Amino acid sequence: MATSGRNDHAAFRRVLRRNATQLARDLPWIEHADPWAVLVSEVMLQQTQTSRVIAPWTKFVNAFPTPTSCANAPLSEVLRLWSGLGYHRRAKALHDAATMIRDVFDGAVPGAVVDLRRLPGVGEYTANAVASFAFGQSVAVVDTNVGRVLARAIANQTLSVGDARSTANELLPRKDAASFNQSMLDLGAQYCTSTPRCQSCPVARVCQWNREGGPDPAPRSAGVSRPQPRFQGSDRQARGRVLAALRERPRSVQHLVTCVDDNDPQRSATLVAALIADGLIEKHGQRVRLSGDE
Ligand code: SF4
Repeated sequence: MATSGRNDHAAFRRVLRRNATQLARDLPWIEHADPWAVLVSEVMLQQTQTSRVIAPWTKFVNAFPTPTSCANAPLSEVLRLWSGLGYHRRAKALHDAATMIRDVFDGAVPGAVVDLRRLPGVGEYTANAVASFAFGQSVAVVDTNVGRVLARAIANQTLSVGDARSTANELLPRKDAASFNQSMLDLGAQYCTSTPRCQSCPVARVCQWNREGGPDPAPRSAGVSRPQPRFQGSDRQARGRVLAALRERPRSVQHLVTCVDDNDPQRSATLVAALIADGLIEKHGQRVRLSGDE
């Protein structure tokens, strides 16, 4: 794979570092000293827009300031604090991760990537992000946003998963990798978006795509997200409605049918069964409640 050379990498890093302050977003978890608070933010950010994470994250870390406090609470309390974030399997995974941290890691979030990867719901991105931002380790953090920056600014070509990973590793500075990773995320979130803002981008002069032109290499690159399926009328929306109803109190099966689709009891039954199988809700006779609720 032909990517830019060592000098180009150095120039890119220099310009990125010079513009770090301009790029920095004011987010409460950035430079947070507590690895648990960082882990919570990274799990919440996996599939939810940053602006929608700020309020739930603040409530969550206030309610559960340590992994042990989260592990000791019933899952239902975690699910109540997950309101507005969607993709509720993440809430259960985070609760399971807190339990593992309490039981296996003496209540402290582990700092090694290999240990972080053992936690439920923690994949390569989240493990690297926590290792970098909470523990200052020299590991590259590559999410959707960074995937776009790498494909456009560094390679000016479509990148496979392996190419994106090796490009990110080659680019990573020896010192202060966490600040570099944060600036890459900031750049991808604010300028190098799906429709890039190259006119005002602070690294435009060292961006390969901006200099060389050609078709946008980002859309088919590794880690770059595809358009989300429609939310309105989706199972995801219906699952959210069921969980919202159960956050208030236990409900009858019949009530949940009205949350999903009055005209399709079979679809409702399938969705409720899936939520039970996911461990998010429990059925007792004809009553359904959040898992862990008394
Ligand atoms: S100049 Fe455009 S393509 Fe290059 S990094 Fe900036 S926003 Fe992305």
